[in-house]
Amino acid sequence: MYYDLVQTQGQESLKIAEVIADNDIAEIKRRQTEKVEQLTSYLRLEADFSRSNHLITDIIDNMPDAFYVLDSQWLFAFINKKAEELLLHPREDLIGKTFWEAFPQARGTLVATMYQKVMSDCVPITFESLSLIHENRWYQVTAFPFQSGLSVYYREITAEKLEHENLIKSQEEVNSILESMTDCFFALDRDWRFTYINRAGEIVLGKPRHELLGKILTEEFTFHETALRHYHIVMNEKRSVSFELFSENFGNIWIEESVYPTETGLSCYFRDITGRKIADKELARLDRLNLVGQLAAGIGHEIRNPMTTVRGYLQLLGEKPLYADQKATFELMISELDQANSIITEFLSLAQTKLSVLKAQTLNDILGKLYPLLEADAFTQNKQLSIILGKTPNLDLNGKEITQLVFNLARNGLEAMGERGVLTIRSYVEADKVVLAIEDEGCGIPPENLDKLGIPFFTTKDNGTGLGLATCYKIADSHHAEVRVNSSSSGTKFQIVFPIPE
Ligand code: ADP
Ligand code: MG
Repeated sequence: MYYDLVQTQGQESLKIAEVIADNDIAEIKRRQTEKVEQLTSYLRLEADFSRSNHLITDIIDNMPDAFYVLDSQWLFAFINKKAEELLLHPREDLIGKTFWEAFPQARGTLVATMYQKVMSDCVPITFESLSLIHENRWYQVTAFPFQSGLSVYYREITAEKLEHENLIKSQEEVNSILESMTDCFFALDRDWRFTYINRAGEIVLGKPRHELLGKILTEEFTFHETALRHYHIVMNEKRSVSFELFSENFGNIWIEESVYPTETGLSCYFRDITGRKIADKELARLDRLNLVGQLAAGIGHEIRNPMTTVRGYLQLLGEKPLYADQKATFELMISELDQANSIITEFLSLAQTKLSVLKAQTLNDILGKLYPLLEADAFTQNKQLSIILGKTPNLDLNGKEITQLVFNLARNGLEAMGERGVLTIRSYVEADKVVLAIEDEGCGIPPENLDKLGIPFFTTKDNGTGLGLATCYKIADSHHAEVRVNSSSSGTKFQIVFPIPE
C-alpha cells in the first residue's frame, strides 16, 4: 500500500514517502515478522495437528481390536488393519462399498438389527455375536453413532465364551450329580439362609426348594440340638464334622451327617441310615448268639461223655432179669438220652467253625444218593416225594454238608404237611446260578416268623430244636449261596441259590 502511494505521487511524494518510510519501515517490518510468525505457528500447529492426526490414525490402525466406520449411506469410510484381517478383505476392496454389498449374509442377523438401531436411535450398543465370516468365533461388538453413520469396534471373545460355557457346563454337571444323588444335600450362607438344596433334601425336609431358598434354617425347622451345635462348630471354626443322630422331627429315622465349611457358609450332606442301624443291631445280636453258641458247644461236648456212660449203664441194667418188668421205662430213658445226644450233635455241627472242604461235583450227584433215604422217610409218613433234576454244572460243594442241608429242609417240609402231601425237590440253572429248590404243600410260615428263620433255637414245634434252619443258613453261607424263602398258606418253598464257579 505504501509503495503504490510512492509511485503515483512523484518526487515530492517520494520525499514524503521517505519520511513515512523512515518512520514506519520498522512498523512494516514488525508486522511482516508478526505475520510470518503467525504463519509459522499456524503451519507448526497444522503440522502438529496433522502429526497427531497421523498418530491417532496410526494408533487406531494398529490396535489389536478391529475398528471400522460406516457413513450414513452404510459406505465403509475407514477400516483398521485388524478389521481388514478379520473381514478377510483389504481396505481398497471395502472403501466405497456399502456394508450390505460387502457382507450380504449380514442381512436379517443380530448384527444388522443392532447397527440399524444405533443409526436410528443414535445410542451406542454393545452386544455379543457369532462371526458372520468365521465359523464358531464369538465377538463382542460395540457400535457408536458417529456423524450420522456409525463406528464399530469389536474384539474376539471366543476363548472367554468357551471358558464361560465350560464353566456353565461343569456347573450343570455338578448340579445334575447333586440332583440325582439319593443322599440329601443343602448349603447355607453365613446368615444361615438356604442357598441350595437338592431333590433328596426337599423330600426329607418336606418342603419344596422354592419355599426354602433364602429362608433362615432355624426359622423353617426345629433342627436337632446336636445338629445345630455341629453346624455352629463348622461356621465358627471352619472345620468339617461328621455325626449321627436319631431324628424325631424327620420321621423317627437315624441320620448320618457330614458338614463342611464353604467360602460362603457351610454345606451339609446327610442320609438316612436307619436300615444300616437295624442291620448293625442284628449283627451285634448274631455276634452275641455266636458267642453263646460257641460256649454252649463247649459245654455240650463235655455233657456228652457222662451221658454216654449213663446210657451204657441203663442199657446194661435194662437187660438184667431184675428189671425185666421196667424194660419199657429203661428204653424210654435211653431214647430220651439219644434225643438229647442228637440235639447236641446237631448243635455242634452248627457251632463248628472250621472251614468246610469243597469238592467240584454236581448237586445231582448228592441228591441221587440221598433219594432212597428221603423216599423211605416220606413213605413211612404216608407222603410223597418228587425229585426233578435239571442239567446243572459242577459246583464246589461239601457233600456231607449239602446232604445235611437237603435233609433238614426236606424234614421241615415233610413235618409241615399232612398225609398225602407232596414234597418236591428240584435242581436247575437260572440266571447264571444253580438253584436247589425244596417245596412243600404244608401250612406255610406266618409272616411274623419269616424274620426269625435261621435264628438258633427258634422253633414252633413242641419237640423241635430250632437248629435245623440255622445249620442250613450256615452251610449255605460257607458255599457262598443265598437262601430265599417263599411261603403262603398253601406251602413253602426254600431256594438255595449257588454261584457257578468260573
Ligand atoms: P425245628 O424244625 O426243630 O423247629 P428248624 O430250624 O428246622 O427247627 O425250623 C424252625 C422253624 O421254622 C420251625 O419250627 C417252623 O416253625 C419253621 N419252618 C421251617 N421250615 C418250615 C416249613 N417248610 N414249613 C413251615 N414252617 C417251617
Ligand atoms: Mg427242623
